[in-house]
Amino acid sequence: MPTVISYPVVETFHSVQGEGAWAGTNAVFIRLGGCDVHCRFCDTKESWNVNSHPLQPVHDIADTVGKIKPAIAVITGGEPLMHNLDPLTDSIRLALGKTHISIHLETSGAYPKSGNFDWVTLSPKTFKPPHPSVYAQVQELKIVVSSESDLQWAELQSSLVDLSTLKYLQPQWGNPEAQELTLNYVLAHPQWRLSLQTHKYLGVR
Ligand code: SF4
Repeated sequence: MPTVISYPVVETFHSVQGEGAWAGTNAVFIRLGGCDVHCRFCDTKESWNVNSHPLQPVHDIADTVGKIKPAIAVITGGEPLMHNLDPLTDSIRLALGKTHISIHLETSGAYPKSGNFDWVTLSPKTFKPPHPSVYAQVQELKIVVSSESDLQWAELQSSLVDLSTLKYLQPQWGNPEAQELTLNYVLAHPQWRLSLQTHKYLGVR
């Protein structure tokens, strides 16, 4: 009997993408369990322990996306690249058939790239910098800003991605000083855009 490939799923939900270039877009989120980056400001700490989340067969995850038919399917975490994402994206593409739903990845890049994605959002963290394989396939770079040193980190990471990559600075939620710092930096550095967590302003996931 063939082995059924499964992933630890924290939650699957239908909402709008709140951040970055796709903000406002109808999206299904698949949040995978497991993360050893351990950012201080993490708002999904419940996802860190990979063993706390039930394993879900890959075809069940893909069926969920196929039934909802969003504009985009977003694989997030946790740190999704802790898992081999090839079978997951293959199954989702099979379930979607000829629809034009695109598959996105949100990652810190801490592990080697896997999966077949239409869009990759890299949000690199100083706590565990990205694996070199990730930088070549990034459409969007997003840096969370809480202090000046994050802006230096943003410039360093920006020098490692393709020139065509969209570059976003996102102030840490609930931190007015970070908001002011980020806004002023974007005004002085037009290659950067401001990303806000609009879903949090709306009070939705
Ligand atoms: S990489 Fe993401 S999920 Fe992991 S600790 Fe940092 S913010 Fe949380």
